[in-house]
Amino acid sequence: MVSEAEKIQKKTSCEHQAECMKMVQLIVDGQASDEQINQFKLNMDTCLPCEKGYELEKCIKETMQLRLEKKCVPSSLIDCIKQKISTL
Ligand SMILES: [Zn+2]
Repeated sequence: MVSEAEKIQKKTSCEHQAECMKMVQLIVDGQASDEQINQFKLNMDTCLPCEKGYELEKCIKETMQLRLEKKCVPSSLIDCIKQKISTL
C-alpha cells in the first residue's frame, strides 16, 4: 500500500509528458531497453500522469493482443480501460 504522504508527493502534472508517453509506447511495444524501463519506472513513482498513462497503454495493448489472437477480451479488462480513461 502507498502511504498518504507518498501520494501527496506525486506530481499531478507532467512537464515532460510528450517524452514520457513516447517511452510508454516503447515499453508496451517491448522496444525499450532495461535501462529505459528502469528509468521510466523511477519517474512513474513520482509522476501521476505517467503512471496513469502507462497503465492505460498497458491495458489497451493487452486488449489489442487478445483481439489479434482472436481470443475474447475479458470484460474486466474493458472495465479497467474505461475506468482509467475516466480518471485521466
Ligand atoms: Zn512524467
